[in-house]
Amino acid sequence: MPRVNLLNTPSYSEEDIYSAVSRQFEALEVEKDLNPMMMVLLKPNLLYGRKPEAGITTHPSILRAVIRWLRERDITNIVVAESSGGLFTAEYMKGVYSLSGLKTPGIEEYLNRDFTFRSVPTKEGFSVKSFNLITPVTEADYIINLPKLKTHAMTTVSIGVKNLFGTIPGLQKPDMHRRYPKTGDFVRMLCELCETVRPSLTLLDAVDSMEGNGPGGGTVRHTGVTLCSKNVYALDAAAVRFMGLDPEEIPHLRAARAMGLYPEEVELTGDALVPCSPAFKLPDAIKSAGFDDSVPGFLRKPVEKIMDALLRSYPRVDRSKCVGCGKCAESCPRKIIKIENKKAGMPRKDCISCFCCQEMCPVHAISVKRGLRGL
Ligand code: SF4
Ligand code: SF4
Repeated sequence: MPRVNLLNTPSYSEEDIYSAVSRQFEALEVEKDLNPMMMVLLKPNLLYGRKPEAGITTHPSILRAVIRWLRERDITNIVVAESSGGLFTAEYMKGVYSLSGLKTPGIEEYLNRDFTFRSVPTKEGFSVKSFNLITPVTEADYIINLPKLKTHAMTTVSIGVKNLFGTIPGLQKPDMHRRYPKTGDFVRMLCELCETVRPSLTLLDAVDSMEGNGPGGGTVRHTGVTLCSKNVYALDAAAVRFMGLDPEEIPHLRAARAMGLYPEEVELTGDALVPCSPAFKLPDAIKSAGFDDSVPGFLRKPVEKIMDALLRSYPRVDRSKCVGCGKCAESCPRKIIKIENKKAGMPRKDCISCFCCQEMCPVHAISVKRGLRGL
């Protein structure tokens, strides 16, 4: 039976985090899975370059503690690798590393400097036949997935499975949104990606988390825990319960269950899992989407069609906040965003409501508006 270990982790102080990492890895007997000859890859969430206090990226103290723990076991071949939203180039990632606090002793020397990718075939029967993955992911013997606990405008939550979307290089990510514009298809693709990357271990940074308009524009909430598991679906389900939400309402967990990946029984160890009260605030896009997928049986298709037309959410730009940086246009899978007179314009026609634009806007100038398609 898969096991999820939860530990109260009050702060990002070196002492608290190293203690939490050591106890998490001891509880799950991680040392037994490793040897000094292995290449160990650490996959943080670096959505884009932001200071750690913004609650958008995996905190550097987690990376520093994991690296220290590995080094103390004579493991030296360690790579911290991620493809943020935006370009996957040395220059772009240098800025992300720097802004996210990773260009500091104990981490800097392990940052990935290989910006190539490889095509990796998937399992038979998957809808995606192969994924392009950043090269270090394809070379690693052991992958430690280090997500940040956040809400997400398209997938409701961003935890362990969603964090692996950052193994797809740079601007190939918007292309996946273009290929899988519907949430149900997109989250199934995420599960297929997860089965292709196959993280060995997931350690969730939920010391400070993000609620509301995550993954980039929400509010930081101190939640004071870390969760760890060798089963990423079990960890995601436990984290969702911790958020005060129902795993049955989370699209990627429903997809995982349909694919036979979701463990029906999980052993919870460590400190008690006490659901957050009040529950995490959801993104505006999720709230206004209403009963997406919740209408049963024969009514589902026609009702969804009507709801899609009437209640679909779209991005809206606050022109007074927009600085014309073009990050939204760069990340838009449909290439419909135009920057004119240093302001972004977003027509609803052809918009697939993926909210990549909102996710990438550095000044939170994009909000969610419910409205009729094409108007
Ligand atoms: S990303 Fe935000 S600030 Fe930049 S152009 Fe788009 S809306 Fe404006
Ligand atoms: S405008 Fe925004 S929400 Fe619409 S397709 Fe482009 S990135 Fe997605």
